[in-house]
Amino acid sequence: MGYQHRIYKSKCGNCGTGWILTVNSWEKNTFLPRKFKCDSCGASNVTKRPNLYPNVPRVLYCGHERGRQLEVYPYPPECENSAWALPYSIRSFIYQASRQIGKCAYQWGGSTEVMGEPVHQDNCGEDPWHSERCHLLSGWIRGQSSCAMWEELKSYCQTLIEQRFLWAYLSLAKGRNFPMLLPQVRIGIAERRRPDFVLFSPLQYLVYKRYAVELDGAHTIERAVLDEARDMDLAAENYEVISLRPSELGYFSEIQKLVEKIAVEMTEAEKSAGELATEVENATFSAPLEISDEDIPF
Ligand SMILES: [Zn+2]
Ligand SMILES: [Zn+2]
Repeated sequence: MGYQHRIYKSKCGNCGTGWILTVNSWEKNTFLPRKFKCDSCGASNVTKRPNLYPNVPRVLYCGHERGRQLEVYPYPPECENSAWALPYSIRSFIYQASRQIGKCAYQWGGSTEVMGEPVHQDNCGEDPWHSERCHLLSGWIRGQSSCAMWEELKSYCQTLIEQRFLWAYLSLAKGRNFPMLLPQVRIGIAERRRPDFVLFSPLQYLVYKRYAVELDGAHTIERAVLDEARDMDLAAENYEVISLRPSELGYFSEIQKLVEKIAVEMTEAEKSAGELATEVENATFSAPLEISDEDIPF
């Protein structure tokens, strides 16, 4: 879902025809350079191999208290080459948060593949011989609705409603390869805005959609003007605001819609590869061998 799609577009060096080059893999690799043969003219092309990074911030700071913030990278710096450490995914976040908070001692326990997608084993516990499956990354299905890690982590949210929202989000996302809902992230170098949550929805390996999720409650008209200013500030940092209002039953149906929206976006690469493709130039091409009538041996 989403993270595994590599989509590039390149032009044939000989005739200029545009081609879409795709690779699906859960490894962390751009798979460049790519060799491709142009079906229009028969030329062989080899793309360049630029250093391409996902379009996500290099670091984020989470937490509403000035003196107590989590420093979060897209993936744990020491796990750069680990295939499970997807940019700002739930697993990448939990690994880093568990070390900074000092609870849970999250360890990736290996993975198997089911229907082309990895299924990870997530272990927690200070003592590696007595570790158990991580309750948080299991979405609370293993008999516990909290854990030492969650009790600390939730305090980075500003309100009780945000805590419940995040808990319910994790309960639906479970251990999937899914983006983390990052609480109280400070936006921009000057930290002008701090949305309730942000998330990075993977359209393909290199292209992420940035969302700021705001639990706006039942807002008044005066408040709407402030919201507009907020939305513009966030748009300047490339975040699209998802403003949520609770129904009588609270936010649960909004959380359901949010995870459905992300799940759909993560399949977008299968439908609109052309629009999501990253352009790469060609390093070399060799024109097809011209065969003239005289060369044909009879
Ligand atoms: Zn060509
Ligand atoms: Zn855990």
